[in-house]
Amino acid sequence: MNKIRLDNKTFYYQVFYKNNKNMYLRLSGHDKLVITCNRRVSSKEIETFIAKNSERILKHSESLKNKLPLYRENQMELFGREIQILYSINEKKNHYELTSDSVRIGFKKDHFDTHYLEQICGELMLEKVSEMMIPLKEHTKSFFSVDNVIFKSQLMSSRFGSCIPEKRTIKLNSLLARLPEKYLETILIHELIHLKVFDHQQEFYLYMDELSPNYKQLKKELVALSRKYVI
Ligand SMILES: [Zn+2]
Repeated sequence: MNKIRLDNKTFYYQVFYKNNKNMYLRLSGHDKLVITCNRRVSSKEIETFIAKNSERILKHSESLKNKLPLYRENQMELFGREIQILYSINEKKNHYELTSDSVRIGFKKDHFDTHYLEQICGELMLEKVSEMMIPLKEHTKSFFSVDNVIFKSQLMSSRFGSCIPEKRTIKLNSLLARLPEKYLETILIHELIHLKVFDHQQEFYLYMDELSPNYKQLKKELVALSRKYVI
């Protein structure tokens, strides 16, 4: 990874080339920068761009110091447990294998590819959702149907889930793959109820009380937990 010093502090940066006209910069963790720009931009221009934004970067970096980065190269949280990451790069295709205390990842790219890691989190979360749906189908049977639902995963910064009842599609935040399962479950139930009740009206909470009685406490804890991550 490339290095640059700003105000005596070392930052690491990774460049992603896209067909952008403009150059974009974001912090990923308190000392990592992700740059997106056109292939024609030189490394000197990139460093000038970073230096020009140094004040903003340093300020933001300071506020992130006590937070947990979403991606670490040697370990990750999976449903509330720390597991080890063992990885290799330049593989023929992306692949992974999960054991009880580690995940072996082969990246097709020549670097630790956080997009693929997020995809793994999403897949593992959706597998967990399938398991959770078995008792939930039984439990919700007398209230409404939760059959034929399409589940999707996406890393989101502002919400834990969403539901499009007309399309019977529920999207869940892949951040939930990091946290204890009870949080994924309460969010899943919340979104399933939206298949039947569009808004958060009284009827909605009647179902919530029935299917996830502890939801208020869980939501409070979930908000606090998610704040420790940098998304
Ligand atoms: Zn809702």
